[in-house]
Amino acid sequence: MKPLLRWVLDSVLPPSCLACGEAVQTDGQLCLKCFSTANFVTAPLCDCCGVPLPFVMDGAKTHICAACEAFSPAFEMARAALRYDETAKKMILPLKYGDQSEAASGLARLMRRPGEAMLQAANLLVPVPLHAARLRQRRYNQAAVLAIALARLTGRPLGLDVLRRWRATRKLEGLNAAERRDELADAISLRRGADVAGKRVLLIDDVMTTGATANQCAVALREGGAAQVDVLTLARVADPRLE
Ligand SMILES: [Zn+2]
Ligand SMILES: [Zn+2]
Repeated sequence: MKPLLRWVLDSVLPPSCLACGEAVQTDGQLCLKCFSTANFVTAPLCDCCGVPLPFVMDGAKTHICAACEAFSPAFEMARAALRYDETAKKMILPLKYGDQSEAASGLARLMRRPGEAMLQAANLLVPVPLHAARLRQRRYNQAAVLAIALARLTGRPLGLDVLRRWRATRKLEGLNAAERRDELADAISLRRGADVAGKRVLLIDDVMTTGATANQCAVALREGGAAQVDVLTLARVADPRLE
């Protein structure tokens, strides 16, 4: 947005809460009520995929969830700011439609907390791609909106066009992890000429469910020579088996 227009809008529109739209002091904040009801992801978590764990074994040095035990993802580590619930849904909604820049920078700040180490180590921030048809339907790739906001916030390099989704996949809802992997196989690949060799890539998305999409992206990036792939999302489905 042009600075003058931004200035005019800022002086007309009061800053509003990321989730409910109530007035707050500064843009990109949650109001007190939403802050107290927001479900931030807290330990214990799976060391790999970041899913919240109900309990951990006493004295265990590493914690790996059953899904990662059964199938080790191509990404190293995934982390999220919030559990995916009604509050998180409300926060993601503005990214899909219309003016999202204020919301995106606030959400990027929430993602920075769990993602700080991964962001610092990353050579490239890459959004999970949407298929062109779905992009036209939705108008915005919310993963790209978040990746742009994170790149602005942290100064990390941005690779908006590194991955391509070649075909529209069926809705993944209702499929288990293995079915999702099958559905996604070969649907996502590296854009021709994209250079990720030796790079530490941080994949960005709005929501992670089973991690099948992130895994497929990581497979493509690793095949392209990426040294390591990590994943940072705004929200995480806390129990993907129940989805
Ligand atoms: Zn609120
Ligand atoms: Zn896991």
